[in-house]
Amino acid sequence: MTTPPHPPTPGTGLPPLAGGSHGPDALRPLVATVLDALAAGTAERQGRPLPAGGPDATAARVRAAATPVLPGEGAGAGEALTTLVQALAAGAADPAHPLCAAHLHTPPLALAVAADLAASALNQSLDSWDQAPAAAELEALVTHALALEVYPGTPPDATPDAVVTTGGTESNQLALLLARERHAPAGGRLQVVTGANTHHSLTRAAWLLGLPEPVTVPAPRGTLDPAALDDALSTLRGPVLVAATAGTTDTGAIDPLPAIADLCERHGAELHVDAAYGGPLLFSDRRAPLLDGLDRAQSVTLDLHKLGWQPVAAGLLAVPGTEMLAPLAHTADYLNADDDTDAGLPDLLGRSLRTTRRPDIIKIAVTLRALGRSGLGTLVDHLCDTAEELAEAIDKHPRLELHEHPTLTTVLFRPTGASDTTVATIRRTLLTEGTAVLGRARADGRLWLKTTLLNPHTTPDDLAALLTRVETLADTLVEGSTPR
Ligand SMILES: *Cc1c(COP(=O)(O)O)cnc(C)c1O
Repeated sequence: MTTPPHPPTPGTGLPPLAGGSHGPDALRPLVATVLDALAAGTAERQGRPLPAGGPDATAARVRAAATPVLPGEGAGAGEALTTLVQALAAGAADPAHPLCAAHLHTPPLALAVAADLAASALNQSLDSWDQAPAAAELEALVTHALALEVYPGTPPDATPDAVVTTGGTESNQLALLLARERHAPAGGRLQVVTGANTHHSLTRAAWLLGLPEPVTVPAPRGTLDPAALDDALSTLRGPVLVAATAGTTDTGAIDPLPAIADLCERHGAELHVDAAYGGPLLFSDRRAPLLDGLDRAQSVTLDLHKLGWQPVAAGLLAVPGTEMLAPLAHTADYLNADDDTDAGLPDLLGRSLRTTRRPDIIKIAVTLRALGRSGLGTLVDHLCDTAEELAEAIDKHPRLELHEHPTLTTVLFRPTGASDTTVATIRRTLLTEGTAVLGRARADGRLWLKTTLLNPHTTPDDLAALLTRVETLADTLVEGSTPR
């Protein structure tokens, strides 16, 4: 049987589609339009990482461009793409700017974004094989390979596996769900134990899943205190899951995983490690030992839209054996009928709680292959080294105080002697100027400026300029005059 070209040749007056044999040709000029609009919008920011003028100025620019939202007669693809993409780029927080360094907000690699274009154009959906035949196989391959990075020592009969998520939040939720279901048959009520340094998504996940409020163990120096964990575990009865962190959001600290895993073993508790931030240390020969003990966890959260340079979203939850994902099994006759599965059609519904699901694995697979372990490890090492250089510059600086030397790529600092109010005002002044995006974190009872370095192109000179600007602002604010 021969099939006619699809969709039918252009000229019908209907908007062209991204797929099919005409898709690439229809896309090419539109992509060129998008790229031009990105360049024009970025130029409007005049070298700043944020639009100048704060929320009001940005809101005015967006409203002018985006109104009317639904015109009676359409403006056409060229006009709509140019106007809206340019406005969005003009008002964007640009993680590729060296001084956009507040959050775990990554500058995506160009190659990953190019791969993501293919994901959108092909629009495969990973809820059934007949919507994503190749993407399903690619996901199975890549998730297994990544899970093997986390669980390398598993015996040949074990099958480490990972599910793809929208990020650390969903991964942590799934980790708690799987732990709850492991104990459900025995009727046990799972108690989650977290550190005071744990990501807020774990508390929310416990709430969402109807679990008791997590027991919080102190983390006096930013990492979970094993002695306090020992005490807490001694008082608890019934099933317990300890959630440790490899790379905290506030300081990038890594909990003492081997000691925590020992305690879990001794007390019969299970372990989940949230390695959303620190997980990619696995790619660095030099720094992978910082994650020793990771493979003793029942589940591990990874987030490649942080130290993995993927556009959002690129989360994973890894487990040491694929059978641990069994609680996600689910049947909907139209997607994975038993006779289809028996006949050999892969059953995808049990690999997520979502139904329609984007193939985020495509950009991940392209990135892993393009850079290799050494390429990724080099990026991780380079950023950790840059963070250490920044810390040393702050430490040597006569008028700035360093919180501590970094483990990952987060550095906290503050002007010596400044009040918390001054620190908060410096941050907001930089945001309003649009000159730098710094975060904030509370540590040792004080407020600190937070830099989270994820941009491999950031140089020591960029960071020196940042320190100078902070110092100048601190002076002006302390003198009580308006910052220049
Ligand atoms: C970022 C982060 C999360 C949340 O991940 P999202 O991708 O934002 O959902 C969870 N835990 C840690 C430690 C994180 O750094």
